[in-house]
Amino acid sequence: VNVDVAVLGLGAMGSAAFWQLARRGVDVLGIDRFAPPHPMGSTHGETRITREAIGEGEAYVPLARRSHEIWRELEAEAGESLLHEVGSLIISRADDAVPRPGRTGFIARSLAAARRYGIAHEVLARDEIVRRFPQFRPEDGEIGYFEPGGGYLLPERCVAANLAAGERARGRLLLGTTLIALHEEADHVRLQTTGGSIHAGRVVVSAGAWAGPLLGQPFDTMLLPKRQVMHWFPVQPEWRKAWSSSPVFMWPHGPSGDDFFYGFPSLAGAGAIKTADEFYGAPTPPDNVDRDVPAEDSARMYGAHLAGRLAGIGDVALRAITCLYTVTPDSAFVIDAHPHMPRVLVVSACSGHGFKHSAAIGEAVAQRLVEGSSTIDLSAFRVDRPTLRQTEKM
Ligand SMILES: Cc1cc2nc3c(=O)[nH]c(=O)nc-3n(C[C@H](O)[C@H](O)[C@H](O)COP(=O)(O)OP(=O)(O)OC[C@H]3O[C@@H](n4cnc5c(N)ncnc54)[C@H](O)[C@@H]3O)c2cc1C
Repeated sequence: VNVDVAVLGLGAMGSAAFWQLARRGVDVLGIDRFAPPHPMGSTHGETRITREAIGEGEAYVPLARRSHEIWRELEAEAGESLLHEVGSLIISRADDAVPRPGRTGFIARSLAAARRYGIAHEVLARDEIVRRFPQFRPEDGEIGYFEPGGGYLLPERCVAANLAAGERARGRLLLGTTLIALHEEADHVRLQTTGGSIHAGRVVVSAGAWAGPLLGQPFDTMLLPKRQVMHWFPVQPEWRKAWSSSPVFMWPHGPSGDDFFYGFPSLAGAGAIKTADEFYGAPTPPDNVDRDVPAEDSARMYGAHLAGRLAGIGDVALRAITCLYTVTPDSAFVIDAHPHMPRVLVVSACSGHGFKHSAAIGEAVAQRLVEGSSTIDLSAFRVDRPTLRQTEKM
């Protein structure tokens, strides 16, 4: 097979790049070992938070804002609703400075980004949070940052919509095919796959948790998969209205970096909310993830975070599933040419917060390959930045 551009991995990032390349008339082949959307990587579990004032760093704000515009275009293409602007709420002490991966000083940095970029928001005193959103029980001293344009996306539907729109624009898909190795040759890249060799002029590697070993140095020690768990807790009948009209929420609390959790409203007919904390311990090889979640883990989640903070939630989870973050040493993305294979563009945008940016990342990737550069500045995500020094090995 010969193709101008191969996109390897069709999750959040790859499916967005696939559509954006195809709609520009590029001869593009999308390759995946599974048939996305699927529950083996980082892009499943019904919902992902989105917001525009990005407390993880102001370099992300243009990506989030542009993504919101593109989701609306994709909704028109797909004829379905993907982005639900139900509002996003951060509850925290205003001066919270506990070190947390990517989110130290989260509420203050979110507020600063909102002010700098003119993003609609409100700062809520504790009593105002309780009056408007009685399902939350903040402590004295905690305040709220509320962004009415925040909300959630439906990740599986977004991936499916990207792939369908890309195919309508004549992009080709090769599913159930695993890349074994990449070899850059004189004027192309040879992709060695389980279905034979493919020759591509350029390759986008958006392989999520699998990317490190495929890309070799320096990525193999820089992109580390970490197992995460999402839990669904039942909503008590008298609290259904409050939880079904709830904003999404993020709640850093307590003195430890692990004292952070987030969650979603109860989706139509679910009678439950999804909530999760984050795990930044030892990495997990993505082909060897323990997908079982013992009931004790959900009980720990309830006791450590939900008890006393969320009202109207039962204490026994209805279900829990695993997912993977691909974490970099500084918790920021890597979007850059491979230092040893210049025809290969590496797109690793996870570290637990990539989905909301994926639509604009797909567009930026396509612009970079077609026009040579992207409208949005991606220099914060270069592979040679000093904060990416490797910290651990898988
Ligand atoms: C529990 C959880 C909660 C999250 N919450 C949020 C949130 O609220 N907001 C937010 O913005 N972000 C969130 N994120 C992060 C976001 O979901 C990720 O940044 C994003 O989904 C990553 O997408 P990806 O395309 O990099 O990876 P994936 O979607 O995993 O895609 C990688 C693809 O590559 C394919 N592949 C890999 N290796 C090969 C190979 N050798 N050959 C062929 N195909 C291959 C895989 O099959 C897969 O389909 C969350 C992540 C998790 C796990």
